Amino acid sequence: MAVRRTREDALSGGDPLGDPAAFGVWSETRDEAAEIRMKELKVAVIPGDGIGPEITESAVAVMEAAAKKFDLPLSHDSAPAAAAAVDQGLPPLPDHTLKLCTDADAILCGPFGDPRWDNAPPAERPERAKLMLRKQFDLFANLRPVKPVPALIASSPLKQDLINGTDILIVRELTGGLYFSDPRGYFEDDAGRYGVNTMKYHAWEVERIGKVAFEAAQLRKKRVHSADKANALEVMQLWRETMNNLHASSYTDVELRHIFIDNCCMQLVSRPQEFDVIVAGNMFGDILSDIGAQLTGSLGMLPSASLGKGTPLFEPVHGSAPDIVGQGKANPLALILTAGMLFTHAAKRPDIGEAIDNAVAKALDEGYRTADIARGNGFKVVGTKEMGEAVLKHLQ
Ligand code: NAD
Repeated sequence: MAVRRTREDALSGGDPLGDPAAFGVWSETRDEAAEIRMKELKVAVIPGDGIGPEITESAVAVMEAAAKKFDLPLSHDSAPAAAAAVDQGLPPLPDHTLKLCTDADAILCGPFGDPRWDNAPPAERPERAKLMLRKQFDLFANLRPVKPVPALIASSPLKQDLINGTDILIVRELTGGLYFSDPRGYFEDDAGRYGVNTMKYHAWEVERIGKVAFEAAQLRKKRVHSADKANALEVMQLWRETMNNLHASSYTDVELRHIFIDNCCMQLVSRPQEFDVIVAGNMFGDILSDIGAQLTGSLGMLPSASLGKGTPLFEPVHGSAPDIVGQGKANPLALILTAGMLFTHAAKRPDIGEAIDNAVAKALDEGYRTADIARGNGFKVVGTKEMGEAVLKHLQ
């Protein structure tokens, strides 16, 4: 059942997100850090649909190698969800998958989605299992770093001098807004059939995601752009007003800039270096991060972490890529970088996360490229498995 939370829950000191370590402030004492280092990390793996199983194999191999290298006890077990579960005669989110996730310290999750359900109503599509997981564990904060790897700058469709130095964290609200609010569905009136979705945000929901954005910015360049549409939507006027109040009461050390979502999309491709942290609602954040993905050269390069009250979930930004499934050419790097975020955020081991990022950078420096990022000549164009092996080589 979905966890209902109040503003007090969200903002009280007891909230897991009140712990800045969840967002990368490594503030624990030496003893606490040692204790975390001793603990076994239990990971629930959901390979997902389409290219999911192919890229998961590489990411799990990297996760195992990284844990071994840093002496971190690791156990992992996998279970199906979405179309992969339905194909076995199970519901999209089977009970045993949910239990595995509940008992784990982290979920490493592939993409969900299958073209066989393309024309099904949203509520019947197997990929709703992802929304169910997010809601179940109240994973309201989705962190999507956009930092082009130097070796891939040439793969970006943008000019090199625009991309150099780009380092953005998109903080997307993940459990409210247009994807979750009621009323929703199909209806009929005198003019015929129509569809409805609702964008609703309580002030406490804006406050808790705003808090995440400000605290992340405090560790970075101390600038938050809040992307809204306050000129047209009441819900976004409340968003802006709440961000202003939160800023004035607690985060005046961070610069807050408001930007309309349409302008934000434009600025993201014309002046990406201007941004540090961008905070946005569920729908706007989704769109912004696909634009961010193109800055990095490919959707196949973008990892994400979803944090909240329950087991944190780590997944690539891209989907199940049905057009290349089974061809062995999917780029596994987004899921491998996602495994890095898992160590950083769930195991509080940013050193392991960094080692994975570095191994990916070295494989790319050596010229390894999957087809989606092989723009230009002189690269070793490889498949999913070989790319995973190239990363492994630099970890060991
Ligand atoms: P997509 O991300 O699957 O694919 C878009 C394009 O990017 C395709 O050309 C694909 O081949 C390419 N691409 C994506 N990931 C890649 C990778 N790792 N390596 C190489 N190329 C890659 O988006 P879509 O086509 O809009 O959606 C396909 C399915 O995925 C749909 O069912 C959709 O609902 C689902 N989806 C799931 C998630 C998720 O689980 N979080 C996110 C987005 C889409």
